Amino acid sequence: MSEEQVVIIGAGPAGLMAAQQMAESGLKVHVYEQNKAAARKFLVAGNGGFNLTHSEEIESFLKKYDAEEIQNIVRSFDNSKVIEWLGDLGITTYVGSSGKIFPTKNFKPIQVLKVWLDQLQKLGVIFHYDHVFLNFNEAEVFLKNNGTEINVKYSKLILAMGGGSWKKTGSDAKWVDTLKAKNIEVKPLEAANSGYNTEAKFHVLQGQYLKNIKVSFEDNEKTGEIVFTKYGLEGSPIYYLNRFTRKHEFPLTLHIDLKPNVSDAEIVKFLEGPDKISSVLKKKLKLSTTALNLLKTLDKETYTNIEILSEIIKKFPIEVLSFRPLDEVISTAGGVAFSELNTHLELHKFPNVFCAGEMLDWEAPTGGYLLQGCFSTGFWVGKAIANSQTISNPEPQN
Ligand SMILES: Cc1cc2nc3c(=O)[nH]c(=O)nc-3n(C[C@H](O)[C@H](O)[C@H](O)COP(=O)(O)OP(=O)(O)OC[C@H]3O[C@@H](n4cnc5c(N)ncnc54)[C@H](O)[C@@H]3O)c2cc1C
Repeated sequence: MSEEQVVIIGAGPAGLMAAQQMAESGLKVHVYEQNKAAARKFLVAGNGGFNLTHSEEIESFLKKYDAEEIQNIVRSFDNSKVIEWLGDLGITTYVGSSGKIFPTKNFKPIQVLKVWLDQLQKLGVIFHYDHVFLNFNEAEVFLKNNGTEINVKYSKLILAMGGGSWKKTGSDAKWVDTLKAKNIEVKPLEAANSGYNTEAKFHVLQGQYLKNIKVSFEDNEKTGEIVFTKYGLEGSPIYYLNRFTRKHEFPLTLHIDLKPNVSDAEIVKFLEGPDKISSVLKKKLKLSTTALNLLKTLDKETYTNIEILSEIIKKFPIEVLSFRPLDEVISTAGGVAFSELNTHLELHKFPNVFCAGEMLDWEAPTGGYLLQGCFSTGFWVGKAIANSQTISNPEPQN
């Protein structure tokens, strides 16, 4: 084993994946984390269904990422590699009905993490919890531990401090100001995978789901399931559209197709028949109770006008006012600009300092694409360092 040492800040999925690659190559890896335990956001992600990646075919998989740089990196350590890596850890997976990849039921999120951390410890990775990153220069990183400031020398430094949502998990994005002060461009952190606040308040529909519907914004559309909340809408088609609506000013209008598999003409034909409108909607079109309740929010004139009603069933308009507050959303778009980094994700202004994970300027929908992006960038940086021949050999001072 070589004695070369690297410092990682942040024990989330990106930092841990980088640690594994380097430790497997014999490098001495120190991970510094401000919490008392690793990967809290990773565990939070596990609460709502632990989709670690997605089974989609690689070309359409890559299209889920907005930045070309991240697409190339995901290609190099793709969904099949993540499944293989999990398999090597002894974690079995299965493909859920929507194509998402989950660990099998016998592996709860906490167990997946434990298996991974055990493996890292066996590889010699050293964890320093309760260490808050403050700053760095060309040779040292400055941290705070129990109120005391310490400095640690590094040969290579990986910053993997996550995005800016769910601050209580540790991802508080305080690094943004530190990097900006060094003249490193950081694109503003914005809500991603966020619900929408809507003009109409759907109090009567709160908690109700619309399934198998299609939501569209301009030319972009996504089929799936949405839920009405006290402020508006949540759900994977909503999160998917975030990226496209972000380019426009609020307020804007989304459309819901309540019957994606039935044409406008067919709907008109049904409605023009002898049956009462309510009976057609329920029995012929087989609209769900939630869809029927949504249509009941229309005024009487609209509801009873066959032409307008059929149009509305295919294109129910929803006025959107804003994203949800940043801290509440699943992930953040924006982050360290790719123009600040070379192909190894190493800062031009600070050679030997790398960035990985959600703190980079990319976004993707939920469904395993976020964790995949973090695993892939961690892998990419870890491998780049492991393959590098230029690591010097300082001892961390802590
Ligand atoms: C509710 C929720 C559900 C989600 N569901 C999914 C899902 O189903 N599928 C999916 O793919 N993704 C999901 N995600 C997103 C996914 O969890 C994140 O994208 C991923 O955890 C980001 O990994 P990361 O390693 O980049 O950063 P993080 O996981 O955020 O880890 C960063 C680490 O750095 C530490 N840190 C930050 N600042 C400092 C500092 N100054 N000093 C020391 N340490 C610091 C933090 O404490 C943290 O431990 C979900 C997220 C949330 C919040």
